[in-house]
Amino acid sequence: MKQKLSEMLSESGIEKLKAVVKEKVGDKAFDFIYPAVVKALEEGDGEVRTQILIDWLDVEFCRVCSVCGKVFQEGWYNMGEYACSDECVMKQDGISKEEFDKFQIYKGTIENYLADTEDSRNIDDLTKEEIDEIMDNVLDECDAYYTSWE
Ligand SMILES: [Zn+2]
Repeated sequence: MKQKLSEMLSESGIEKLKAVVKEKVGDKAFDFIYPAVVKALEEGDGEVRTQILIDWLDVEFCRVCSVCGKVFQEGWYNMGEYACSDECVMKQDGISKEEFDKFQIYKGTIENYLADTEDSRNIDDLTKEEIDEIMDNVLDECDAYYTSWE
């Protein structure tokens, strides 16, 4: 899926990309390599983008969606994988919008919390408010969260 560099990264993200490439290849080679990097990122698929940004450049300021292959700076970390949007994280977990709205993405974390606190309630019976309350207690332990990379 084609994606313009300006759609992948903020201006500061693009500056960071330039700096990382420059550090990797040196000032002189930069002028040759950087346009090739941009072309590969814009025209390549998620695998190509992952190879360049994560495997080779090891950047901190963005991630590649493992569902649609988009590069993004704000999105989901989901149990070791990344997703650029709510739609993609729903696909990743195989859950519906309704389940997503009921925080099913945090199901494992919520169930662990209920077990740990010897709370016999079932996750499916909890209201949104009750889930919100639990989330306040477990946010640090979540294996899925929405965040931004910088
Ligand atoms: Zn995506």
